[in-house]
Amino acid sequence: MKCVHCSKPAVIGLQHGALCKIHFIDYFEDKVIKTMNKYQMIERKDNICVATSGGKDSLTVLYLTKKYCEKYDIPLTKIRALAVDEGIAQYREKTLIDLQKFCKEQAISLEVVSFEQELGKTLDEAYPLINKSAQKKPCNVCGVWRRYLLNKYAAKSGASKVITGHNLDDEAQVIIMNIFKANTKLTGRLGPISGIECSDYFIQRVKPLYFCTEKEVRLYAFLKKFQVEFTECPYSKEGFRHQVQAMLNDFEERYRGTKQGVINSFLALLPQIREQEKGNVESVRECARCGEAANKEVCNACQMKEMISHD
Ligand code: SF4
Ligand SMILES: [Zn+2]
Ligand SMILES: [Zn+2]
Repeated sequence: MKCVHCSKPAVIGLQHGALCKIHFIDYFEDKVIKTMNKYQMIERKDNICVATSGGKDSLTVLYLTKKYCEKYDIPLTKIRALAVDEGIAQYREKTLIDLQKFCKEQAISLEVVSFEQELGKTLDEAYPLINKSAQKKPCNVCGVWRRYLLNKYAAKSGASKVITGHNLDDEAQVIIMNIFKANTKLTGRLGPISGIECSDYFIQRVKPLYFCTEKEVRLYAFLKKFQVEFTECPYSKEGFRHQVQAMLNDFEERYRGTKQGVINSFLALLPQIREQEKGNVESVRECARCGEAANKEVCNACQMKEMISHD
């Protein structure tokens, strides 16, 4: 395969043709910058919190956020990285080491908060207990607590935007999961800029890698020589998401463009979904226990914390 622009050996074949290393990096960075501009993901007044984990997506998004700020003369002191240590043995500690190194090299300040310190137990310790009382899978517990700590600590640091490394594959998986579970309310919160309602309690989340496939992000991180562990979370095979991911990968292999099709259809429908859900949004209030955002008296994070507190 040769690059469609310069005839050098190609590193990837895309729908519009094959690209060499240099042209792929240009194409990828250009796509991310255009996405950020189109959706006005970063404005001059913003304080930016990048949600990171040390994986390929978060290092890529952190690096390109910095590049974006440099391009538009936004002071780099406006960017902070925030990571959550869930306490997953043989996995998270490795990615956090990569992250600490990366942030040091890039001169970006990093804060790490942990489930253990904030909620009393690591995910490895907490999930079997929560599973016993509420049949929750590790990813359910992890997702609720991680979102909770990200929102809490992003707010504490004065952030007005949270940038996440979600890519096109991640989003396509969640759209399909929500369709299978008839979860329209959650579907309305997806999109390049998430959330139906702007609220004092939730900081807006934005996804610069929204139109980049997992394969593209992986290749970009590899070509840029980011030091990342390409290992998977030991719990990743347990969830419903894993099956949806396998199904979408299988369809993509047989019918190229399937994932992009899911995203395009979703984006075409999103304005109607948000309009419809506007009237159904439950009023957000303060959790009676922790004071963070809740849609009932006690937030989900505190309810799960309660399940482990007697042990
Ligand atoms: S795969 Fe599940 S448990 Fe592992 S980090 Fe992701 S959400 Fe958390
Ligand atoms: Zn080329
Ligand atoms: Zn709470």
